[in-house]
Amino acid sequence: MTTEVVKSHLVVAQNASGRNMNVPIYRMKGARPGPTVYIQSSIHGAEVQGNVVIYHLIQRLKNMDICGEIILVPNCNPIGTNIKAGEYTLGRFDPVNGTNWNRGYFYDKGSVETFANTVTPEESIAGIKQRFRQHLSNAINEKLAEPWGLGLAQQLNLKLQQLAVNADYVLDLHNGPVSTRHIYIPEYAKDSAALFNIPHCIFIPNIFAGALDEATFCPWWTLREHVKSRLDRDVSFDVEAFTLEMGSQEVINFSEGAIDAASIISYLNAKGAFYQCDVKPESMQRIGVNLRDYKTLFTDWGGMVEYLAKPGHAITKGQPLAQILNIDDLDNNNGSKLLNAPCDLIPILHFPSASVLSGTQLYKVFTNYYSIT
Ligand code: ZN
Repeated sequence: MTTEVVKSHLVVAQNASGRNMNVPIYRMKGARPGPTVYIQSSIHGAEVQGNVVIYHLIQRLKNMDICGEIILVPNCNPIGTNIKAGEYTLGRFDPVNGTNWNRGYFYDKGSVETFANTVTPEESIAGIKQRFRQHLSNAINEKLAEPWGLGLAQQLNLKLQQLAVNADYVLDLHNGPVSTRHIYIPEYAKDSAALFNIPHCIFIPNIFAGALDEATFCPWWTLREHVKSRLDRDVSFDVEAFTLEMGSQEVINFSEGAIDAASIISYLNAKGAFYQCDVKPESMQRIGVNLRDYKTLFTDWGGMVEYLAKPGHAITKGQPLAQILNIDDLDNNNGSKLLNAPCDLIPILHFPSASVLSGTQLYKVFTNYYSIT
């Protein structure tokens, strides 16, 4: 059994020379019906590991019996990947307008509620899904045709969002600065946490902050809640979206990429994306946290640090997170000091550089975390 890969390119921007900048789209369609899946990587240009995950996915999927369609868009931000400053990639922000590349997706709560009022008690789930997708697609097109124009990042985001609009399952592949594997999961899809091989799970509410996962799940979640309150009818659309953070930015690691590809296949298999596939999630310890307990530790000092607490390794209150070097006190007892954990926590990621200005996001950590069974 081999599945054909159909490759095309979509123009997402133009550089100052007037040349088109495009992204590759790989489509793999099975003979059997099934869900539509959309996977993209590197919307943040320094977060390149997702591209090697997509490489492994395509190589494996070619020899698998797909039900439905899988759409893969690696290196989906051709601008961000190329913004270098010395040795580093400054891939997080649109350099023209300063906006985060992952904050310009589209969601209009009012428009979802207007649509929800057109749903009848008899309408089938499939019928609602089809109409709603058209509604969302029209809204994105309308936004793209905005007569006053849109910023660079938002144009890119909306073109990508349009590619994902028919998907049942959307995976946005990211990396942290120096980071361990973790995943953002909408609360209504919490059971899916155990389908990925990712040990750290952040559960997020129905709140839109501009990212692709939120722009995908907020409309369906809001529609479901609105139909429930208006018609007392519980409709489950089984549309899910996740942001996967697969280790550190500025790194390509082929063997780690194979692990994440297997994890994604395990999730998609549980969602019916393959015929006769025996890939299952691994039995492993999974730790959950609610978004409000995923804390950022900012510095109120500047200096140079050694990061003592390693991402993924729990530490208890009072244990050292970092050792700080004070340049003006190298000759006395204040030459260095420890920064200790304010409570029991699991560091998930830390700033990638040893030199730190005041107000830096030094660590992001799980607090009040719990084990997922
Ligand atoms: Zn990112």
